[in-house]
Amino acid sequence: MSGSLRTSAELQRAERHSAHNYRPLPAVLESAQGAWVRDIDGVDHLDLLAGYSALNFGHRHPRLVEVAQRQLGRLTLTSRAFQHSLFADFCAAVSGLCNKDAVLPMNTGAEAVETAIKLVRRWGYEVKGVPPGRAEIITFDGNFHGRTVTIVGFSTDPAARDGFGPYPRGFVSVPYGDIAAVEQAVTPNTVAVLIEPIQGEAGVRVPPPGYLTEVRALCDAQGLLMAADEIQSGLGRTGDTFACDHEGVVPDLYILGKALGGGIVPVSAVVADWPVMSVIGPGQHGSTFGGNPLACAVATEVVRMLETGEFQRRSAELGAHLHSLLAQLPVGAVAGVRGRGLWAGVDLTPGGPPAREVCERLLSRRVLAKDAHEGTLRLAPPLVIERDEITWAIEQLESSLRENR
Ligand code: PLP
Repeated sequence: MSGSLRTSAELQRAERHSAHNYRPLPAVLESAQGAWVRDIDGVDHLDLLAGYSALNFGHRHPRLVEVAQRQLGRLTLTSRAFQHSLFADFCAAVSGLCNKDAVLPMNTGAEAVETAIKLVRRWGYEVKGVPPGRAEIITFDGNFHGRTVTIVGFSTDPAARDGFGPYPRGFVSVPYGDIAAVEQAVTPNTVAVLIEPIQGEAGVRVPPPGYLTEVRALCDAQGLLMAADEIQSGLGRTGDTFACDHEGVVPDLYILGKALGGGIVPVSAVVADWPVMSVIGPGQHGSTFGGNPLACAVATEVVRMLETGEFQRRSAELGAHLHSLLAQLPVGAVAGVRGRGLWAGVDLTPGGPPAREVCERLLSRRVLAKDAHEGTLRLAPPLVIERDEITWAIEQLESSLRENR
C-alpha cells in the first residue's frame, strides 16, 4: 500500500523528523495543476479534498499564480506598521463580497476565529453592557473552529480537546440543529452565537432547513451577534458564495479563511459592520503577516473570481451531479450522504471498512479523499473539477467499497 521504495523512504524520514500530529495517506506529492496532483513516482491523482476547501479554485489557478508571481517581484511584506498599495483594494473587495463595512485581516482560520471571539466579547462589554469578564458565547456540539487553546477549549471532540487545559471560560455548547437548545442557553451575558452554517469536520453536517434563519431571528430578538464561521463552507464551496446565502441569512460577522488565500498563502479575515468592528482600536489586536501585500494580491483576485458567479454555479451544478451519483452507491456499503454543492459527507455502513481504509483503497485507484471520522468519508473536490472526472472518481469509490478486504 505504501507505493514505491522512494515513497516509503520519504514517509519514514518525515515520521522520524516531524511531530506525529497527522497521519497522512501514503503518497508523497510533488506537483499539481487544477484538480490533479502528481506524486514523486509520477502518478497522477484526482484531488477530492482540495486542501479542506483551501483549494476551491484548484491547484495553481493561472490567475492566482500570475498575481502572486507579479507581487513576489514587487513587495511581499510591510507589516501593518506601514500601509501598502494593495491593502485598500483588498479590504474594499472582501468587505464588498460580504456586503459589510470593514475587514480585519489575519492569516490562518483559527486566528480569524480568535479575532471574532475578541470582537464579540468587546462588543458585549462596550455596546451591550455585559459586566466585565462575564461575556458568554454559544457554540455547538461537533464544532470545529481550529486548534488554539481557546478554540479547543470549547470543542466537544476529546481528541482535539483533552490534555490541553486549562481553558478560557465563557463558552457554552448546545446540540447543532436544535433552536430550543440555543434559546435555553441564552443568558443576560450572552454576546454571540458562533456557528458553522454547515459543520465540515463533523462530517459535512447540514442543519435542518430554516435553522440558520431561526438562529438569525433569535440573535435579533435577544440582542446577540451571529458570527458565521464560513472558513470551510464559504467562497463557493456549497454552490453559493456563502453557505448562509442558501437561507438568505446575513450574519453580523463573517469569518473567512482557506480559499481566500487561493491555496497559495494563508489569508483569513473577519468581516463586519462598523458597530462591531470599531470596538477594536490601534494596538488592541494584530498580526505581523495579516494583510500582507502577497496575501492581498491573491485574496483580491479570489474575490474578483467569485464576482462572476461562475465558481458558485459550477459548485451547484457539479454538486448536483456528485450527489446524484452518491445517491446510487450500494445501500449495503453507504448508510447516508449529506452535503451541499461540491461538498459531501458519506456515512459508511458500520461493520464495513472504516473510512480510512476506503481512502487508502481510493488512493491506490488514484483518487485523493479523506476520512472525517472513522465512519465518514468527506468529499470536497476543487470547483474546477470536470463532470466526467467526478463520474470517474465516484466509480472508483464504488469499486473501493465493493473490494474484498
Ligand atoms: N473553522 C473551520 C470551519 C474550519 O473548517 C477550520 C479548518 O478546518 C478552521 C476554522 C481552522 O482553520 P485553520 O486550519 O486555517 O486554522
